[in-house]
Parts: sequence; structure tokens; C-alpha cells
Amino acid sequence: MRAQPKASHFIDGEHVEDTAGTPFESLYPATGEVIAKLHAATPAIVEKAIAAAKRAQPEWAAMSPTARGRILKRAADIMRERNRALSELETLDTGKPIQETIVADPTSGADSFEFFGGIAAAGLNGDYIPLGADFAFTKRVPLGVCVGIGAWNYPQQIACWKAAPALVCGNAMVFKPSENTPLGALKIAEILIEAGLPKGLFNVIQGDRSTGPLLVNHPDVAKVSLTGSVPTGKKVAGAAASELKHVTMELGGKSPLIVFDDADLESAVGGAMLGNFYSTGQVCSNGTRVFVHKAIKEKFLSRLKERTEKIVIGEPMDEATQLGPMVSKAQRDKVLDYIGKGKAEGATLLTGGGIPNHVPGEGYYIQPTVFADVTDNMTIAREEIFGPVMCVLDFEHEDEVIARGNATEFGLSAGVFTADVTRAHRVVDKLEAGTLWINTYNLCPVEIPFGGSKQSGFGRENSLAALQHYSELKTVYVAMGPVEAPY
Ligand code: NAD
Repeated sequence: MRAQPKASHFIDGEHVEDTAGTPFESLYPATGEVIAKLHAATPAIVEKAIAAAKRAQPEWAAMSPTARGRILKRAADIMRERNRALSELETLDTGKPIQETIVADPTSGADSFEFFGGIAAAGLNGDYIPLGADFAFTKRVPLGVCVGIGAWNYPQQIACWKAAPALVCGNAMVFKPSENTPLGALKIAEILIEAGLPKGLFNVIQGDRSTGPLLVNHPDVAKVSLTGSVPTGKKVAGAAASELKHVTMELGGKSPLIVFDDADLESAVGGAMLGNFYSTGQVCSNGTRVFVHKAIKEKFLSRLKERTEKIVIGEPMDEATQLGPMVSKAQRDKVLDYIGKGKAEGATLLTGGGIPNHVPGEGYYIQPTVFADVTDNMTIAREEIFGPVMCVLDFEHEDEVIARGNATEFGLSAGVFTADVTRAHRVVDKLEAGTLWINTYNLCPVEIPFGGSKQSGFGRENSLAALQHYSELKTVYVAMGPVEAPY
């Protein structure tokens, strides 16, 4: 087994195994090969991880932010030095091509440690509030033990995007990766220890939907940050709300990407492809409803078909491969089912639509697929597919496309391609989404806030905004004179 970790869990600075937990296998999605055998956490493992976090957190919170930041920056350096090995592990874990993981996964995690490590010294200051003779001041204080729960599309990135702001604020974290991609987070935990993080501050435990609630419902947990689907988000937010815990919800989407007739055609086609086929379409913010102005529809579709059919599908470890398999057979079956619905409901299949003929193994490959003539009420235009399936819809008028773009319960992202700068700003102003792009798509550098509105969630990851979601303000009023009481 070529990616077997030392143990299933990482708790209090040590690799920990508990064979009483339900065994599960980690598969390489390109071949179906078993690459690791692990055990889900038992309730005893959950207790152990939370107890370690609770014990370690106060001393960590008492350190200066600069000292905490220094450790995170060291972790960023180690991740960059080991980018190749970490990217290969991410490719084994997810099936995503090495061409992607080498630029988008450990490096994005390292960016997060570097950014939050770097702002530690100045970003956590409070305010001084003059009140005449009296004054008040605020302190930004940590929440305590935070739980992170990850999806399977960006396992290393998700672990780092949650760990970095949590740790810099002085919290401890227990992280549960997706059961489909259990491996990357264990390496992040090892690297943090190597960088000097005291034991117990970043713990990783394995498990699935039955393990998650043990973490979410634990009385010693102050905050839960979930990256996952809307149905899971509703369960987790509901459970957290019953104990008034803090939550960040990074959930699903069905985002609109609007292409006006004056857009640069090659950029718009490229943006739509990146926003539907990168990571085999397993990206929450994807612009899966591509609204194309009727005047350029034929040109757009013809270039899109041409470029899509040139995508190189292959063994993910091959540097030339541009599209790998889906993460699991279950996910591929789900996507094939949606493709069937698209055909049955009358959309025009422009390209793709099935399993490619020549694939390297028994893996969960699927063709990049484009449907044209999609209408708003079709299932494929309403539900999140989470695979490489692009829906192209026609439109004529600006107001019409904004209303149709917003006619969804989701509100994660949106994009607009146009050469008219005033129109671009008018349109993004009216689109209901948390993260929007003008003349590009899906770029998420650590400096900018990322997150959703409506049912796509709340809270923000990355940027200074993330600090607010891993800390709270303590306000102190200081009286400089005697108390004047009327009695
Ligand atoms: P999922 O909702 O099935 O699972 C997400 C995580 O939650 C997993 O670790 C799972 O074990 C855990 N979980 C499931 N039920 C739980 C419960 N009741 N209590 C606690 N934990 C529970 O999602 P997935 O299939 O792993 O990932 C795909 C989804 O994630 C898509 O909807 C996608 O849009 C979304 N996503 C969102 C973002 C974002 O930042 N907004 C990023 C990536 C993925």
C-alpha cells in the first residue's frame, strides 16, 4: 500500500491507532487500488483528541501572536520545500492531476500559513475607544477548541485554510478530513509539529458522517467550521445552534457565469472551462450555469466544443494529464445520473456525456461534458452536480440574466465576462453571491475573503475576515472617576 500512514489519527503530537474503530480503505481514484487501510475514530479517540486540544490551548493563547505566527510561517516553508511529495500524496488521495496539485494544493495551504503567520503581529490588535474622561478597549480573544470538518475535493487546502486562522488566533483544532481523502491532513499535522507547534494544538481524527456529530455535539467544542454540502451544513449548523456554538459554513453552489456579447471570447471560453472542468468539476464555486448572450452563442459553443475535446484525460501522475478521475465510483455514478437527466429533459449534449474509452485503469473517469440549450427549470440547471458538467443557457437582456442568475437557493459565487466596465460593476452589484469575478473565474488567493451567501453558507475563509470567525471581542470599560449612583 503505497500511501499507508503511520496510523489513522494524529493526536497530541503523536500518531495514534485504535483498531476498535470501523476499518475503511483509501482508494486511488485513477485505478481503484487500495493505497491505505485506516480505522474511523471511536468515541474514545474523539475524547482523546478534544482533551488534548483543550489542555494545550490556554498556553498557546498566552504566547505572543508574533511567536505563534513564526511557527506558522515555518510550516509554510516546510510545505513549499516538500511540495512535490505533498502534491503526489494529494494526487493519490483525490485523483486530481499532478499538473494541478503541484500548483494549487500544498502551495495554497502554505500561502494560508504564510499569510496568517505574517499578519499575526498586527492583525490581532484591539481598539482604544475614548469616552471623555473614561475609555474602553477591546481585545480579540480565541474561542477555545475549534472543530474543522473537510470535504474531499481539496483536502490539504481545506485543512490549512481552517487550521491557519484558528491557530493564529490562539485556538486549538481537531480536524476530521473526508472519509474519501483521509491522508493529506495527517501530513499537515506532522509538518506543524516539525515547525514547532506545541503538541495537542492540531489533531486529526478519521471518520465519516457518524463521527462528525461526536465532534460537533461535544460540550468542550466552541466552534465548528464545515466544508461540505448544503444538507450536511443544515445538520451541522442545527446541532451547533442548539448549543449556541460558533459556525462557519462553506457549502455547495450552482453559480452563474454570465458572458455578454462584447466579451473576449477566448477568455470567456477559458474561464468557463476552468470554472467547470478544473479538479474534474469538483469545485464548490464552479460557474456551472453559463449564461451566454444569444448573439455569440454559436461562436462560443463552437470554440468550447473544440477546446473541450482537446482536454487530455489520463493517469493523474503524468504531468501531461489535464483531467483525472472523479474521487469515487459513487460520485461518478451520481454525475452520470445527472447527465442522463439532462438528456431526458431535452438539453442538447454538445460533447462528452459518458465514460471515456481509453483510460489508464479501472478508475472513476468521466468525460468533460457540455450541455447547450439548457433551460432554468431543468434538473441539471437547478441542482449541484459536482462533476465536469457545464450547462450553457441563452439570454438576451441584462435584467433578465441577473434575475435568472439569482433564481436559486445557492449564493456561493458568480462571474461576468464583458468589455463594458460599468456593466460589469452594475451586474456584480446585483448578483447574490459571496465571491464574484469580473473577466476571470475561480481565482481565490489567500488575501481575499471567500465564502457564500444564502444557502451556500456563512462566515468567510482567508483574508483578515477569517480572524473574526475564529475569535471574539472582549470589551473593557475603564472608569477614571467615582461612580455616580442616584441611590
Ligand atoms: P459532505 O457534505 O457529504 O461531507 C462533508 C464532510 O462532512 C465530510 O467530512 C463528512 O464526513 C462530514 N459529515 C457528513 N455528515 C455529517 C454530520 N451529520 N455531522 C458532521 N459531519 C458530517 O460533502 P462532500 O461530498 O465531502 O463534499 C462535496 C460538497 O462540499 C459539495 O456540496 C461542495 O460544493 C461542498 N464544498 C464546499 C466548499 C466551499 O468552500 N464552499 C469547498 C469544497 C466543497
